[in-house]
Amino acid sequence: FSVENIRNFSIIAHVDHGKSTLADRLLELTGTIDKTKNNKQVLDKLQVERERGITVKAQTASLFYNWEGKQYLLNLIDTPGHVDFSYEVSRSLSACQGVLLVVDANEGIQAQTVANFFLAFEAQLSVIPVINKIDLKNADPERVEKQIEKVFDIPSDECIKISAKLGTNVERVLQAVIERIPPPKVHRKNPLRALVFDSTFDQYRGVIANVALFDGVVSKGDKIVSAHTKKIHEVNEVGVLNPNEQPAHKLYAGQVGYLIAGMKDVTEAQIGDTLYLHKQPVEPLPGFKSAKPMVFAGMYPIDQSEYNNLKSAIEKLTINDSSVTVHRDSSLALGAGWRLGFLGLLHMEVFNQRLEQEYNASVILTTPTVPYKAVLSSAKLIKARRAVQKNMIFIDQNRVMLKYLFPLNEIVVDFYDSLKSLSSGYASFDYEDAGYQTAELVKMDILLNGNIVEELITIVHKDKAHSVGKAICERLKDSLPRQLFEIAIQAAIGSKIIARETVKAYRKNVLAKCYGGDITRKMKLLKRQAEGKKKLRKVGNIEVPRDAFIKVLKTQ
Ligand code: GDP
Ligand code: MG
Repeated sequence: FSVENIRNFSIIAHVDHGKSTLADRLLELTGTIDKTKNNKQVLDKLQVERERGITVKAQTASLFYNWEGKQYLLNLIDTPGHVDFSYEVSRSLSACQGVLLVVDANEGIQAQTVANFFLAFEAQLSVIPVINKIDLKNADPERVEKQIEKVFDIPSDECIKISAKLGTNVERVLQAVIERIPPPKVHRKNPLRALVFDSTFDQYRGVIANVALFDGVVSKGDKIVSAHTKKIHEVNEVGVLNPNEQPAHKLYAGQVGYLIAGMKDVTEAQIGDTLYLHKQPVEPLPGFKSAKPMVFAGMYPIDQSEYNNLKSAIEKLTINDSSVTVHRDSSLALGAGWRLGFLGLLHMEVFNQRLEQEYNASVILTTPTVPYKAVLSSAKLIKARRAVQKNMIFIDQNRVMLKYLFPLNEIVVDFYDSLKSLSSGYASFDYEDAGYQTAELVKMDILLNGNIVEELITIVHKDKAHSVGKAICERLKDSLPRQLFEIAIQAAIGSKIIARETVKAYRKNVLAKCYGGDITRKMKLLKRQAEGKKKLRKVGNIEVPRDAFIKVLKTQ
């Protein structure tokens, strides 16, 4: 393929506006997959994507299309829409020269439509607006055209109105890709320069790197070097994604494909790395800004004997999801584990679900927190900032875009759900980091009969301390077994007690359950009690089972 006949593009949009469905139609139209009634989001290959009906991983597919006597190679990247996965979108865009910006003809421009448009705009890509779902009864494509003109400054006659579901007008989209998106600017005669923009781990073949070739050619047997590690690897296989891997002899500049070169782990396969030929070094490509985690949670194996398996599962999954940060951590209650950083709560849930489904690992995940910077000075006396309105733009008569500054911990947990229910599902939401702000935060201790439980020390906003402290005390009360003496559970800030619960004294008699005198059953119960004790931790003279910590620390 000559470079003139190659187009690299992504499909971007707000969640559920029809990206993956449009991708299905484009795959069918180009004969990449057979046309059947059953093609539903075929690029959403992961179990978690099929179960939740959302895309969480960008997926590449190479399409061949004949138009006006020429054959074109169109490399399509389908991307996720949810704000938590925008890192996937920005990386995908680095391999593209243009995007299809899909907007639902009924819902119009939403928060991630705006966020994703600006990712493409900043990357200086050609934007083709596609108004989808014109088959819907309430569709109002003309109103959406006006919104697009107003918010993105794109003339309405550039919008293509389609129904991805029924296939209406989809051929126009392919033609616009050829006409309006420029071919990649690359040099095949120069030495190889390839950008690793994504990667997956295969149990048998090791790391499979998704690459976009900016210069040169790469073939099986070539010796390549990672600009990042300077390690030399021999290429075992190259090919295109069709959308499944299909080996090829060579990959040329301008193409998007995959490459396998015996890379074994995440340190050898960095996203954003540049690959070049051995003894032909090149200037590395810019790479990516690393993702900035917003939500942190502790992850521990349910049983410490599972530590190594879980470690390897986390390492492999982070090859495929480089936006997760991993630091070793340990907890007095839960043993050795990790502190993971995620881009949001949905991202955290999806990562956890993928660990279970793709790696068979089950874990304890602690309640998520947001990052704080502690400054020990009287500046904490400064008035805490809640939401501050920054600006307001009317998209049309019925829609307004509001910008606010929020403390992160106010939005990560249930803000999105509350916003949706308040607005009967009409409002949508996106966020970006605005830096650290001073706030009145306090360190809260949990005490058992006056002894601090180190595992449960938390940082909370002053105004929330009472309700959070009360909730922890209540949960602890429910999960602490009664003991021979009364236990006072207290939440305290410094020496001030802000919440209290009491567990009444109780004489625990494990043998009470043995109505008859069955001696083997008695022995069994005594043994079980002894084993249970091993898992207890003593706080003062109070025995706290590991289970109680798990109940208090775990995500609900
Ligand atoms: P994505 O999140 O942007 O990838 O959206 P999907 O492709 O997963 O589609 C979201 C939902 O919208 C699915 O239930 C689709 O069947 C539906 N959908 C997509 N395109 C159309 C369309 O043209 N018309 C109608 N009526 N529904 C559509
Ligand atoms: Mg999708």
